[in-house]
Amino acid sequence: MRPLYLTNTLSRNKELFKPIHEGHVGMYVCGPTVYGDAHLGHARPGVTYDVLFRLLKYLGYKVRYVRNITDVGHLEHDADEGEDKIAKKARLEQLEPMEVVQYYTERYHEAMRLLNVQSPSIEPRASAHIIEQIEAVKKILEAGYAYESNGSIYFDVQKYNKDHHYGVLSGRNLDDTLEGTRSLDGQGDKRAPFDFALWKKAEPEHIMRWPSPWGDGFPGWHLECSVMGEKYLGEEFDIHGGGMDLMFPHHECEIAQNVASRGTQGVHYWVHNNMITINGQKMGKSLGNFITLPQLFAGDHPKLEKAYSPMTIRFFILQAHYRSTLDFSNEALQAAEKGLGRLMQAWREIAGQAGNDVIPDSDRVSPEVRATMDAVLDALCDDLNTPIAIAHLFDAVKLINGGKLSNDDKAALAKFFEEVVGGVLGLKDEEAGASGKAEKALEGVMQLVLENRKKAREEKNWAESDHIRDLLASYGITVKDTKDGATWTLE
Ligand code: ZN
Repeated sequence: MRPLYLTNTLSRNKELFKPIHEGHVGMYVCGPTVYGDAHLGHARPGVTYDVLFRLLKYLGYKVRYVRNITDVGHLEHDADEGEDKIAKKARLEQLEPMEVVQYYTERYHEAMRLLNVQSPSIEPRASAHIIEQIEAVKKILEAGYAYESNGSIYFDVQKYNKDHHYGVLSGRNLDDTLEGTRSLDGQGDKRAPFDFALWKKAEPEHIMRWPSPWGDGFPGWHLECSVMGEKYLGEEFDIHGGGMDLMFPHHECEIAQNVASRGTQGVHYWVHNNMITINGQKMGKSLGNFITLPQLFAGDHPKLEKAYSPMTIRFFILQAHYRSTLDFSNEALQAAEKGLGRLMQAWREIAGQAGNDVIPDSDRVSPEVRATMDAVLDALCDDLNTPIAIAHLFDAVKLINGGKLSNDDKAALAKFFEEVVGGVLGLKDEEAGASGKAEKALEGVMQLVLENRKKAREEKNWAESDHIRDLLASYGITVKDTKDGATWTLE
C-alpha cells in the first residue's frame, strides 16, 4: 500500500499514517449544526474530508466514516452560553425544533450531493444519543472531574489540568484560556469561567429537554462527539477531523472528556482544515458577505458577479491545501472555472481517444506518463496536497493536448482520470453529464424507431415508413436510406 502522510495537530508534525487495525480506518468528522443553510464554511470540511475518505478507499482501506448532525445543545454565543441555535430558529419560525432539523438536514444533504460529497458511513444525531451522553456524564462525575451546580453539570477544568494537560491539542495553557474567556452573564453556576457544561439544566421555557438524574435538561455540545465517536468507532480510533475553529474549545474539551470518562484521548490523528475568507475578510452576517451554498450555485447574492457551479466550488477548494486559508473572490472563482474547464476538456478527449474498454498494458506505458501519474498520487498522499496534485494533473493535460501519446498511454491516462480525478478528487464533468446522457438515450430511441421503419418497409407499408421519416424531419432528424440500411443525422 502506498504510504500516506497526515499532519497531526497533536504532534504538529507530518506523520506516516498507521491505522489501529490493519486495513481498516475509523474516521470521525464534526458535522453541521442544522439551523440554517450550508455555507462556504461547510463546503470546505465537506470536500476536504470527502477527498480523504475517497483517498483512503482508493489506497485499499476499508473506511468507516462517521459525520454527525448536531441537532441539540449547540448554544449561541459559545458552546455554553445563550439560546440553543435550533430552539431559537424554531421559536422565530414557530416550528417544532425537529422540523427545523429535518428541513436543514435535507438542505445540507442536497448541497453536499451537488458538491459530489459522498455520504458518510454513519450520520448519527446528537438528540438520538441522549442516554449515552448521560452515561458519559455519570462516568466523568464518578472519576471526579465534574461537579453539579444548580441542576447543571460542569467539567472541572482546573482539577483535570492538575492531573493531565488541558490544552494538549491547541497548545494553550490554562492561563491563556482564562484570558481568552469572555465574562458573560449566566456564568454564575460555574466555579471557573473555563469550566464547560456537560449537562445543562433546562429552564421552564426551554423546549428541547430530557429527564436525567440531575433533573430535566440537555447535553452540552462538546459531549456528543466524544460519545458518538466512541459508540461507532471504539474507545480509540484513527482520524478525527474538523475545522480549525473547532480545535478550541470543542476538540480540546472532547479530549478532556475522553480522558476523564475512559482514560484515553481516543484519537490518534487530529486533522484540521483551515478557514475560508471572502475578499480577505472573515465570513460573517454583520459583514454582509455571508454566502450560502444555494446562493452561490444560483448567483443570488450581491457579492456574486454570477452563479458558480458546484464543481467550480469543489475545484476551487481543492486548489488550496486544506491547512491554508482560502480566499473567495469572483476573480479567483472565475479562474477556477477556467482551469476546471481545461481539465474536463482533456478528460473528455482522452476518454474519447482511449475508448471505454481498452486495458492499458502497464509495461508499455511511457515513463513520462507513469511519472506524471505517480506525482499526482504522491502529492495526494503527502498530507492531501491537492494543489500540487492538480499542478501535476495539468502536466498530464499538456501530454494529452500534445497529441503524441501511444494507445497504451491514452488508455492508462483515461483510467487514471476516471479513478483519480473522478474517484479521489471527486470532480465530474458537469457539461458532459447531462448532454452525454441525453445523447445516449437519443441513440437508443433512434435505433428503435429505425428498426420499426425497416419493418414497415419490409412489409411494403410505404405510408408508415414515410410518416416516420417526415415526423423525424420535423424534429430536425434527417433519415437517409443507404444500401447498408438507414442512417440518421441531427441538425
Ligand atoms: Zn464535534
